[in-house]
Order: sequence, then C-alpha cells, then structure tokens
Amino acid sequence: VPVPIHKMFDYLLPDCAEYANARPGARIAVPFGRYQKTAYLLEIASKTDIAPADLKPVIALLDETPLLSEDDLALLCWLSRYYHHPIGEVVNAAFPVLLRRGGSPGLEPAKAMQQTERGRAASLEDLRRRAPRQAALLDMLNQRSGSLPIAALAGLDWNWRPAVDSLGRKGLVRLVECDPAVQPERSVPLLPEIQLNRAQLDAVASVSAAFGTYKAFLLEGVTGSGKTEVYSRLIQRVLDRDEQAIVLLPEISLTPQLQARFSERLAAPVAVFHSGLTESDRCRAWLDMRHGRASVLLGTRSAVFTPLRRPGLLIVDEEHDPAFKQQEGFRFSARDVAVIRAQRLNIPVVLGSATPSLESQYNAMRRRYHSLFLPQRAGQALPPVFRLIDIRNQPLDEGLSPGLVALIAQTLARSEQILLFLNRRGFAPTLICHACGWVARCPRCDANLVVHANAERLRCHHCNHEKALPKRCQQCGVDDLRRLGLGTERVEKALMRLFPDAGLARVDRDSTRRKGSLENTLGNIHAGTVDILLGTQMLTKGHHFSRVTLVGILDVDAALYSIDYRAHERMAQQIIQVAGRAGREDKTGMVVLQTRHPEHALLRLLIEEGYRSFALAALTERKAANLPPYSHQALLRAEAVDPTAAHRFLTKVAAVAQALSRGRIDILGPVPAPRARRAGRYHYQLLLQCGHRQSLHALLDRLLPECFKLEERRRVRWSLDIDPSDLC
Ligand code: ADP
Ligand code: ZN
Ligand code: ZN
Repeated sequence: VPVPIHKMFDYLLPDCAEYANARPGARIAVPFGRYQKTAYLLEIASKTDIAPADLKPVIALLDETPLLSEDDLALLCWLSRYYHHPIGEVVNAAFPVLLRRGGSPGLEPAKAMQQTERGRAASLEDLRRRAPRQAALLDMLNQRSGSLPIAALAGLDWNWRPAVDSLGRKGLVRLVECDPAVQPERSVPLLPEIQLNRAQLDAVASVSAAFGTYKAFLLEGVTGSGKTEVYSRLIQRVLDRDEQAIVLLPEISLTPQLQARFSERLAAPVAVFHSGLTESDRCRAWLDMRHGRASVLLGTRSAVFTPLRRPGLLIVDEEHDPAFKQQEGFRFSARDVAVIRAQRLNIPVVLGSATPSLESQYNAMRRRYHSLFLPQRAGQALPPVFRLIDIRNQPLDEGLSPGLVALIAQTLARSEQILLFLNRRGFAPTLICHACGWVARCPRCDANLVVHANAERLRCHHCNHEKALPKRCQQCGVDDLRRLGLGTERVEKALMRLFPDAGLARVDRDSTRRKGSLENTLGNIHAGTVDILLGTQMLTKGHHFSRVTLVGILDVDAALYSIDYRAHERMAQQIIQVAGRAGREDKTGMVVLQTRHPEHALLRLLIEEGYRSFALAALTERKAANLPPYSHQALLRAEAVDPTAAHRFLTKVAAVAQALSRGRIDILGPVPAPRARRAGRYHYQLLLQCGHRQSLHALLDRLLPECFKLEERRRVRWSLDIDPSDLC
C-alpha cells in the first residue's frame, strides 16, 4: 500500500474466479483505514500472522495481466531495502499517476488531427502572415490528405499544442480518434547514416558486443565529440534486434532537441515521458513501452522504471547531472537505478557525459564500468581556447572586466554569438543600507532577500517569500539603500547600455517562467537574432548553439571556496559544459573565466590539462579526506518549527547509532544544516559515513526501527537520504 510505512500488508484474496489470474505485479484495490486505495500485489502467500477475523479482503483486481514483470518487482523490492524507503511508495513511484489512481490500463485511443471543410477552404496566405505555426500545420495536413496523427507532431521542435488548439477553436481542424493499428507517419525525413569516426565506431562495437548481457559503460566524450550519434547508432542496433531502449535525460528542456535528432536517425517513433506532458500522454508512453508498441523512450528521472517488453539497452545522458537524484520522498538516483536495473535485466547500460561524475570516474578506474573515450570533437570543430582574466584591482562594470568587454565587442564585430554565464538570477543578491548597515533578510530563512529590479520586488530564493522593494532603510529610514553583488538582471542592464545595438537574450528561471518562452528564446538563438546570450546553469545543459564563439564565465570564485565538498566538481563540470557551447562548427571558440584566484591549482589543472586530469586530482583529494566515492554516506535530516526539537531528536538517534555501530561507522553531528532556518523551520542533520557499504546498511537496518520508537520523533519531520548528493 503506497503509504509511508515500512511494511507490507496482508489481505485476503477471495477464492473466486475473478481473482484466479491475480499475480505479483498486478494492481489491486484494498480497504485501508477508512479509505479505499490502489495497492500493489507483491506476493501470494498461504499463511499470515493476522487473525482471520482481522484479515480484510481485496476489493478488486485491477490488472488481469500484471503491469510489472517479476524482474522489475524484484528490482523495486531491492531498491526499497537499499534506500530504506517504504516498499509501497517505491512501487508507486514506478507507475504513472493515472495508473496509481487505479485508472484502467486499457488504452485511450490516440488522437489524430483532421482538416474540416472550413479548414480546406481557409485562406492560407492570410494565416501565414498572422499565425505561421497554424499555417505550417495546415500545410502538413494538406500534404497528407487532411489527416495527421498527433503522435507525428511530437517530433517537431516547436511548441505545436497552442497552434493545434487555436485551429480547433477556429473550426479549421477537429480531433478524432485514430486507428491504433496504423503507425504514425514520420514528421521528419530520415537522414542518411553518417560515417562515424574511429572512436565512435569502437564505442558502438564495444556496447553492441555486450547486447544480451550486463555490462556498464562510461562513455566519456568531450562536448561535440558525437556521443549523441553513438546513442542513435546503438539504438538502431537495438531496434534491429527487435528490442527496446530507454534514454534518460536530466532536464525536460533537452527532450525536444534530442527527440528531433533521434527522429532523423531512427525508423521507429520515439516516445517521451516527462513531467511536462499530460497525465494521459505519460500513461500512454509508459503502456506503449510495457506492451512493446513503442521501442524507444526518452525521459527524465522517473522514466527509469518504465517496464519493458523486450529490454535491450539503457542510456543515461549527462550522467553527472545532480538532477538525476530525486530530492524528496523516495530519494533515488536514476543513474544508479539504471545501472542496477541493467544488471538485473542482463542488458548493457551506457552512462554518457563530457564531464563524468567522480563516482563514475572512480567506478571506471576500478573496472566496474568499462571506459569508452571520444577524445576529439567530431567533424571539423576544434576545442576551445581557455583564458583566465585576473580581475583583482580591475575596474569592473557591473561585473564585466575591460578585457571581457573588449572581447565581446570584437566578437560582435565579426557577427558571431556570445554566451555569458552567471549562476545567479535577479538583480543583486544583497540590499544593504549605506547609512547603518541594515541588510534585507528573509524573515523565515537564514538568507538575504534578492533584489529583483524588473519586478521591483525582494525575493527569497529558498522559500519564495517576497515583498515590494523598499525605498528607504527599514531600520534607520535613510534612503540610501545599495545593491551589492551581481545577478543576471544587472548584467543584462549593463550589456544593454554597453552594446545597445546587439540582440540580447537572458535565460534564467525568471525569464522563462512562462510556458514556451524558453523554446521561443532557443528558437531566436538558432535563427540568429540573438547576439549575446546571458544565463544561468539552464544554459549549460546540452543545448547546441552553433554560432557561439565566445563564452564568458563571470564568476568562478564562489565555487572555489565553497564549504560544499562537491563544489569543485560542480564548478569544473559547469565550466566544461558551458565551454562546450563555444565554437562547435567551423570556428575556434574562446572561453574566458573571470577570477580573483588565477593561481588556484584545480582551476589551472582544469583549463590547462582538461577535465580528466582535474577529476583525477579531485579524486585524490576525496581519498585523502575519506569522502565519497571512497566512503559511503547516509544523511538523516530533521526539521521542526521548534528551534531545538530537531537537534534533540537527532542527538538521540546519534546515541543509538553510536551504541549499535561500536566504532565501525563515523557518526558526524547532529549539526545545523547550512541555512538552518528555512521557511520558518529549523533544519538539522546527522551524517553517517563508512568505508564499507554493507556495514553502513547493516547499521541502518537496525537503527531505523529504533528511530520510529523515539518519543522525540513526534515533534519533527525527518527523512533518510542514502548517497546524498547535497549535504544541505
Ligand atoms: P555530443 O553529443 O558529444 O555533444 P553530438 O553527437 O551532438 O556530440 O555531435 C556534435 C556535432 O557533430 C553534431 O552536429 C553531429 O551531427 C556532428 N557529428 C557527430 N559525429 C559525426 C561524424 N562522425 N561525422 C561528422 N559529423 C559528426
Ligand atoms: Zn539604515
Ligand atoms: Zn525565505
């Protein structure tokens, strides 16, 4: 039963024909407390400890044929033990929401768009001017005798839904149910196979040789080295074997681009699964994979659980990305789950990245993963040139050094694009009174309020608390408030002043809040109307910008001296990922980093010798400090409105852990979490660390039941995070 309780529940399976087909993996409806719940049948037993009078009967069998295979069920049980998370919630996470709610697994028929009489008569000339997207859809309909399955639109790289809706409202098209037996026609023509280079061919050959067996590969390829082409070719091979593949991506915004590229190379349609789709679309994609009607699935984190009829290959692209770790509830790492799942299904798994995580790098060193390396950019593109600009004692114009400004001007003069990276949105991170030193703080968090000048608001980036931007100091009343530090809005304003004629686009969570606006901006960038692109880490993720030749990283120093032990790794990954956006076609790119620490050893290693050398050095530091991957961690978090309750609870837990571990496990804390007060609640944490994974898990097995017995737990919200990616 999907409830936060660490146990399975016994129910009586009535002895009648309706239940004759009940098998593990099927959904059932059961009474639970005063409610009826959709639950999952895990096991059929002939005995129970429950007294017969207390044993409640199952209300209904929802699946005649189980939706999960025994392999997948076994995987979920294993994950429940590994992550110490209640089995009901773990199994629940594997299902799309409609099925969790007990929805029928029978397929709602797919829809097709059909031209109406009015649509046939409509003047396209007029529409082309006013609504080019609607006109484009009508053009497509005309080419296909007036009917087009909606699924065929999924490969388009623009947001077609509003256009379909508008056409429907105008009565120019109608949506009808289409015959599921008819395969959707291709929306893009199949491109001829490209000639892979030596390294790509080797990678494809190694993985293909492992089809039908478990083997984990770490595909390390510098940005632009042709990893995506390797994936396409591998998936083609999987399709030739009549098997299925799942490709995991860290971010929704990357799916259209990758889907479009796969659609050009693969004969089979590509299904997608992510939170941007409607529930029924997601459910359909899930069932299509389950029943083998679709062969390729592209999805984010939770797509890793999608059941496969004929499993062939799992791919995790950008495997280093922290977004693969779920940060609430069932805190799993989709990358790690993919590896375990491949092992259980006996199929290969490919983890790809230009900047592999230190964990994966370490697994490759220990030969748990097989290393594949694409050392060069494919085609003609050359690697970018790095340059450090020492900004000590330099006059900065809103964070821009004279050297960087000059380079931007030269790049604009050559009509090439510029990408500037600053990982902080808003105008300025601090508002301070010049007269008395008062700083605008969030009343609910240990954090400063961030100035958002465009919206004229102060906002907390941790709890979303906001208020109007004050004119005067709220402590002394003087009107001399100063804005300290840099945010993207501030740099944007400076760029508008410095380069008034340049096309400028800012990409961050504020500028892309409206649905479709990120797609629009990306479209403009590709169309070439944008000269300078300014943004946060949203820009670092896998997007292709072919005309960018100058990349500026405005501030690397914050990461150099962060308290987070992963900060160096994240910094290096971001630098290399942003740098990968430069000079991708025929021109060499330049990457400029502004820093006050040009002598920093890891930074120099990174830009002089590359990510691999950096990673080896960073691993040496981790080893010396006995940090992951050289040790294993579990983090207990607790929070409460009462400032001392969480600390009291974790102190008790620490004492129990101490007694159970007999010195084999490091028990660190409890300590206040970074920014201990968040949204009015006080956060504490207790870190358990051990060089031996089994010992850590054995301790947790005994510790958790004790935690549930502690009286102090009643006053806190607490959770356990296995292999935490953030200690906050
Ligand atoms: P990555 O995924 O590693 O960043 P891509 O697969 O996107 O790299 O490849 C970068 C560019 O190089 C793309 O435009 C791609 O079509 C092209 N490319 C990849 N492999 C080859 C090849 N063997 N020959 C020519 N062009 C290639
Ligand atoms: Zn003041
Ligand atoms: Zn706050």
